[in-house]
Amino acid sequence: MKIPAAAPLTLRREGQETSLVRVGDVVFGGPTVVLIGGPCAVEDRQQILDTARYVAEAGGRMLRGGAWKPRTSPYSFQGLGEEGLPLLVAAREVTGLPVVTEVLDPRDVELVAGTADMLQIGSRNIQNFPLLKEAGASGTPVLLKRGMMTTVDEWLLSAEHVLNAGGRDVVLCERGIRTFDPALRNTLDVGGVALLKTLTHLPVIVDPSHAAGDRRLVCALARAAVAAGADGLLVETHPDPSSARSDGQQSLDPDEFRELAVSCRAVARALGRDL
Ligand code: PEP
Ligand code: MN
Repeated sequence: MKIPAAAPLTLRREGQETSLVRVGDVVFGGPTVVLIGGPCAVEDRQQILDTARYVAEAGGRMLRGGAWKPRTSPYSFQGLGEEGLPLLVAAREVTGLPVVTEVLDPRDVELVAGTADMLQIGSRNIQNFPLLKEAGASGTPVLLKRGMMTTVDEWLLSAEHVLNAGGRDVVLCERGIRTFDPALRNTLDVGGVALLKTLTHLPVIVDPSHAAGDRRLVCALARAAVAAGADGLLVETHPDPSSARSDGQQSLDPDEFRELAVSCRAVARALGRDL
């Protein structure tokens, strides 16, 4: 195995326990596998409130939803932007679920950190060092997604940037990498998850939705992630995926989301954990 680059704040020291990352009353890195559910994008009040309700009922512990969306095409829906933030706050008030949302621009970190419970740094920004530093300095917990072309070493060093800037609470999120095979949207690096659990003390979660790119495969990848030791799951779900403004093809409907929770809970329990 290749020795990872020097990342003293991120690497697990001999005998060091997994760090617990607290977001409100949610704990990453403990015995409970944290299920986060929500739409790719916040679309309107009804959509995010409806989603938050069924996510909470199914056992989800946090709500996701992008206000700003990094889209490959400038003609695709870019998200509601700032207007999406109060809708996430309303959903948190109704359900009690802490919210995680992506911040794309270092200039928005203060605003988003003042509203959301956790900052998502997306795949496309894994090496946006000014953004990593700003997020770390905010003191708000950070969900750091792996870039689609990022090695484990590079990912650990990006986490090191956040911690070095003063951040204490970082959760890593594997979301699939680009490989030679386009059959799935990305290739879920389950081995990378197992490896990271040994290399770093930071909790590691998995986003099976962007790895699969197809709702029919999401549950199987989620189960594999829990079996490999993931500390949580980030799953896209929408009350009506066929009308979703982004990533509908990989978004679970409410029934599928409930089934995923039941199925992954069984895997977690088989391993002495819960979900
Ligand atoms: C997302 O979570 O909706 C997203 C854009 O993910 P990623 O950054 O992993 O592509
Ligand atoms: Mn998405």
